[in-house]
Amino acid sequence: MDFSRLAELLFPDVTKTPEDIEASFPKRELPEGAKVTRLAPSPTGFIHFGTLFPALVNERLAHQSEGIFYLRVEDTDSKREVEGAEEDLINTLAYYRIEFDEGAIAGGDNGVYGPYRQSHRADIYHVFAKQLVSEGKAYPCFSSEEELEALKVTDKKAEIQNKDWHSDESAQRAERQAAQRAITIEEVKEHLEAGDPFVLRILANGDPEKKTPFTDLIKGSLQIPENDEDFVLLKSDGIPTYHFAHAVDDHLMGTTHVIRGEEWLPSLAKHIQLFRYLGFRMPKYMHLAQLMKLEGNSKKKLSKRDKGAALADYRAEGYPPESVIEYVMTLLNSNYEEWRRANPDEDWKSFPFSIKKMNTSGALFDLDKFTDVSKTTISRMTAERVYEGISEWARSYDPEFSALLERDPAYATRILSIGRGGKKSRKDLAKWNEAKAYMSFFYDEIFERVDAYPEGFDKTDIKAALDAFADSYDPNTDNNGWFDGVKAISEKLGFSPDVKAYKNDPDSFKGHVGDVSNFIRIAVTGRQNSPDLFEIMQILGYDRTVARVRDEASKL
Ligand code: GLU
Repeated sequence: MDFSRLAELLFPDVTKTPEDIEASFPKRELPEGAKVTRLAPSPTGFIHFGTLFPALVNERLAHQSEGIFYLRVEDTDSKREVEGAEEDLINTLAYYRIEFDEGAIAGGDNGVYGPYRQSHRADIYHVFAKQLVSEGKAYPCFSSEEELEALKVTDKKAEIQNKDWHSDESAQRAERQAAQRAITIEEVKEHLEAGDPFVLRILANGDPEKKTPFTDLIKGSLQIPENDEDFVLLKSDGIPTYHFAHAVDDHLMGTTHVIRGEEWLPSLAKHIQLFRYLGFRMPKYMHLAQLMKLEGNSKKKLSKRDKGAALADYRAEGYPPESVIEYVMTLLNSNYEEWRRANPDEDWKSFPFSIKKMNTSGALFDLDKFTDVSKTTISRMTAERVYEGISEWARSYDPEFSALLERDPAYATRILSIGRGGKKSRKDLAKWNEAKAYMSFFYDEIFERVDAYPEGFDKTDIKAALDAFADSYDPNTDNNGWFDGVKAISEKLGFSPDVKAYKNDPDSFKGHVGDVSNFIRIAVTGRQNSPDLFEIMQILGYDRTVARVRDEASKL
């Protein structure tokens, strides 16, 4: 067969050569050892929580080595594409503070190695496709999927035809492919003249009995059987498959490390073959184990259908990006938590991320642990950052609460600064959607009483304590002076001002100072548990505090 003629027939409009293309993607000038990595998601409408794994590994390895991390949108599968998904993808990654040096941005590109959307790169792929055809390494296939399916010899068909056929996949494939490859140039011409669609297939020359040694940076030494499958390079709409686009793009864009999910490991044989055929140097590869969840006692892959898989849900619930990153880092490197304990205030990027400390089997997604990490992360934030996080969340998800917050940001920030800072910050919040309930008693409009007064006390005593407090509360004393006042009320009403004394001789008292302050707490906040009561009253102010206490006393 005259391959150059075939190439001309299939790609008459392609005038550029691979050299022309190479010239517009010059080698990157980077310091020695700098890694070039990418995140290459497909905009299929749903970013999985697990996407953050490759995102952070890629980002860390690039930026720790003074390299480049870029975003490439792999939008070659128009059947699976969802309207608005790309925008959502870009926004969600930005929300989680995944910082790209180059790549697709809203409405365009940032960087000179683009276009960074595969759907805009058809011309580039066609140049390399034409080259492969002209070298006899690829050929057109005009058979439809159905026709090919019909060619497959199954055990059942063999039985009917009484053939001695064993289900050796490779032998079957060879037979089928021999038929596909037998197409003549005249037949190609006829099909093209008739306007028949075709796919472009690689002409595989591998022998699966032979193995190629391969080192994966996570999985270690592997033996990859050679590829003997004439897989598709270009689909009938001229758009490449993942395999072909991966080889062309990662070569031209200068990727040094391909870090992707382990679901791509079985395709590696195809990629090795393609890089060889194209004469490209292979990047290094890291195949990351998938995120797992616990079901009963066994580990299962966190699949797209699982609750808790969609990143957007975490945003909607108001998990701050800092918490999500912090949690993913604890899953990625086994020594991260230890580092964090020693460096509570450091930026997470100061952590020396290491491939060696990575989990080689799937890390386990554990919501309780995540909640815990998030509480600690939020407890380390400034009140201003917490306010910003809550109000940003509320703007989208709770407009009523948002209006209350934005009416007086200084007031809200003051509330959020209670118990913050110092050695042991309070850990009240794991996500922003918990803030409303936590802060509600500061806002008369949404204040609801949650807890009743504890059992075992006489109502008249509770009332007397509330009245005494309302009569004597002096907002100008400090925390100690305030508590002395509660002690004095306790003593007067037959409650022990000292908890220890009460415990030694409970029968001599109605209760102790803690009980009295609890009555006041419930009157003021409507709940048994709250942050520091003195501070709460300071923020509420004298009038509201006393009004609430009197109002409660009058009901008892
Ligand atoms: N588009 C592929 C995916 O979403 C990318 C895999 C890769 O990083 O190469 O799975």
